Amino acid sequence: MSRTTSFKLVLLGESAVGKSSLVLRFVRNEFSDFRESTIAAFLTQTVTLDESTSIKFEIWDTAGQERYKSLAPIYFRNSNAAVIVYDITQPPETSFEKAKSWVRELQRQADPSIVIMLVGNKTDLESQRKTPRELGERFAEEEGLLFSEASAKSGESVEELFMEIAKKLPLAP
Ligand code: GDP
Repeated sequence: MSRTTSFKLVLLGESAVGKSSLVLRFVRNEFSDFRESTIAAFLTQTVTLDESTSIKFEIWDTAGQERYKSLAPIYFRNSNAAVIVYDITQPPETSFEKAKSWVRELQRQADPSIVIMLVGNKTDLESQRKTPRELGERFAEEEGLLFSEASAKSGESVEELFMEIAKKLPLAP
């Protein structure tokens, strides 16, 4: 018999780094070059860990709110996992720095057991890369975070990064 456990996951990061796109790739296997204003703020997706265990992600996207005001801590309180996204085609001073500040914020305010995955998105634009992979890798290692680079556009590593998170989530015996 298979058991499904639900976990709350939040997406964080600067505007336009591809948070909604990563979610849409993961949940619907879709991508759009054009920003949709109607992107849902809440989606779910279930993955299978093994024949007896499934993980249901309840995914909270900021739906652009991060552009207008700072997000209330209530948004990530009670979150079991966070995906913090930056854009590898931007210089590190911009979205990578913002990602680091989100990590600090979670370390201060979120549940200490939260699983944090740092993601450098847009690897399909390798020729325009301005943030080296090593910067993300090193920061994640120092802070004990999961790390991946990915592309919502090509789909590279998207499913895998959510699977990595799923494997780290605490399951009741
Ligand atoms: P959000 O504001 O962080 O949710 O970012 P969006 O998901 O709305 O994406 C912002 C823009 O970047 C859109 O035009 C997307 O099509 C584009 N985008 C997102 N992910 C990728 C990616 O992996 N590769 C490329 N080339 N473009 C992407």
